[in-house]
Amino acid sequence: MAQRFGFSVAATDGKARKGVISTSRGEIRTPAFMPVGTAATVKAMLPESVRATGADILLGNTYHLMLRPTAERIARLGGLHRFMNWERPILTDSGGFQVMSLASLRKLTEEGVRFSSHIDGSKHMLSPERSMEIQKLLGSDIVMCFDECPALPATDAEVAKSMALSMRWAQRSRDAFGDRPGHALFGIMQGGVTRDLREESARALTGIGFDGYAVGGLAVGEGQEAMFGVLDYAPGFLPEDKPRYLMGVGKPDDIVGAVQRGIDMMDCVLPSRSGRTGQAWTRRGQVNIKNARHMDDPRPLDEDCTCPACRNYSRAYLHHVFKAQEMISGMLLTWHNLHYYQELMQGLRDAIGAGGLPAFVAAFHAQRAEGDIEPL
Ligand SMILES: [Zn+2]
Repeated sequence: MAQRFGFSVAATDGKARKGVISTSRGEIRTPAFMPVGTAATVKAMLPESVRATGADILLGNTYHLMLRPTAERIARLGGLHRFMNWERPILTDSGGFQVMSLASLRKLTEEGVRFSSHIDGSKHMLSPERSMEIQKLLGSDIVMCFDECPALPATDAEVAKSMALSMRWAQRSRDAFGDRPGHALFGIMQGGVTRDLREESARALTGIGFDGYAVGGLAVGEGQEAMFGVLDYAPGFLPEDKPRYLMGVGKPDDIVGAVQRGIDMMDCVLPSRSGRTGQAWTRRGQVNIKNARHMDDPRPLDEDCTCPACRNYSRAYLHHVFKAQEMISGMLLTWHNLHYYQELMQGLRDAIGAGGLPAFVAAFHAQRAEGDIEPL
């Protein structure tokens, strides 16, 4: 008998929560940051290295995997966990967001979205039923409802119409998902930056009933102030005894602000993508390793960091391998960035557990305000 999906809150500090999500593939400590493994890999990282940074769960992308190598092929090869050698929990998105941002020749109807692949132009259909089928074929532990995220800017009427469609699709997702012990289905709240629509969406979702709830439609270019504005009230519309997931967030200060507002889970390509473009995230803010100031600098990126990039290599080396376009550049910086993100999450969890979140957040901002160490 598979372990039932569950969530328990162990401590709170203000609106912030520290807890544990239980799945049949292991526990997820919250607040959790999920690295993104778009095409069945967190780019430049071995799965065991991703785990070594402290990640309990990865995110996989339905849209990418359905097109290549296809969900059916992954299922024949034993499912996504086995295929990519990650035995711990995996959350998959529904494909809804990426089909709107990546695919061409999209046609949106009540049934779903018809589109052409951005890879080879082949024609496909995503609907709530097909998205549930694909995520089941992949073997995802946490499945996301198929929803529509309206392109911005949008009028209130457009956001309301789109939200209503997403709520009808949420019911169809729930019906198609069925009863799968050990696996979870999350609903996705929409409603843009309009409080009434967010509340209406939350009411529709809780009426259907899900194992967890995402706050969708944010981190799409509205800016941090508008996002925090929604997060000041939106998590409060959702049940306290279920995990709350903020999709596609974010920068370290976005993460801290979201946790302060009651968010339990987040994902973002930022730490891995930045690692491949010479950008490092540290407790002192962002460091551009491409900068010539690092050329002769024998010091580590962050002397307090215990990741392999900081323990074993100098800024001068990291600068050199980036300039020489060596693969190890992306590997080391991605490792550092993911390590930093997971250390931040551990710090947040510890602070919430000890009732010291305000002091932790103040120190976080103070250290960033200092900026990078002085050049030699
Ligand atoms: Zn490091």
